[in-house]
Amino acid sequence: MNIDLHCHTSLSDGTLTPTELVNLAVQRELDMLAITDHDSIDCYQQIDPSGYKFKLITGIEFSTAWRNTGVHIVGLNIDLKNKTLVNGVRRQSVVRHQRALAIAEKLGQLGYSNSLEGAKRFTSGGQIGRPHFAQYLVQIGAVSTVQQAFKKYLGSGKVGDIKDQWASLEEVVLWIRSAGGVAVLAHPTKYKMTRTRLCALLEDFIAVGGEAMEVISGSHTSSVTGSMAGLCQKYNLLASLGSDFHSPEQPWAALGQVPNLPPNCHPVWARWQ
Ligand code: AMP
Ligand code: MN
Ligand code: MN
Ligand code: MN
Repeated sequence: MNIDLHCHTSLSDGTLTPTELVNLAVQRELDMLAITDHDSIDCYQQIDPSGYKFKLITGIEFSTAWRNTGVHIVGLNIDLKNKTLVNGVRRQSVVRHQRALAIAEKLGQLGYSNSLEGAKRFTSGGQIGRPHFAQYLVQIGAVSTVQQAFKKYLGSGKVGDIKDQWASLEEVVLWIRSAGGVAVLAHPTKYKMTRTRLCALLEDFIAVGGEAMEVISGSHTSSVTGSMAGLCQKYNLLASLGSDFHSPEQPWAALGQVPNLPPNCHPVWARWQ
């Protein structure tokens, strides 16, 4: 089975439209795909969930914060019409807009004016995020790469890393569960936490109804995968996996090119098969 349960379209910070993304999934011979745009389910208005050779699982990636660290929670197999979920998504969209204003103000104080308008030009009318500000900073020559923009201005602990307005971990998990979905802790190694801190996060996540964790995200080494699988066993969590694909130009996160889960994992897709 070729499965990818984490990827993005141009309606958040990916480069492919929803149609281009599903066409790529067909080309890559995927058996199961979940599109998980940041705080958005709009991609599903542009594609027919039953219209493809592969099984399309509805999904989203919610932004939240835990103990002052930005954390992402993927929701899988969600009822897109559920009112609690829809209201939650709407609220996160408002927060995203307010955050963009706050980021622009911070960048303005550093002498980079009109960054909101500049960043918006890199969106396709969907969610605005830090990658769009990063692209604008590259465009005006403030930095030479997107990575540098994150390192200097937008990444963890920098002026543009504004995360205090997001809904709480408890709220985003509730929205996912209300919509009949499974809440998955996304890319656990990206938070650069010690094992003790990651365990504390997992304990809080489980206490509010979290049920799964991404054991494989993008290009993990096998020792990292083994360690994440061990945590799933320890906490009796279901295991998910995904490329976190954003663009064909990022070969380290290629759509559908994700290794298999280790045999000691309980796959999250057992829930809907
Ligand atoms: P946001 O959703 O606005 O908080 O932006 C987070 C997104 O920025 C992530 O989903 C990544 O796509 C991207 N990102 C985060 N850190 C970096 C980085 N260091 N370099 C490039 N892109 C990054
Ligand atoms: Mn992203
Ligand atoms: Mn993420
Ligand atoms: Mn993602």
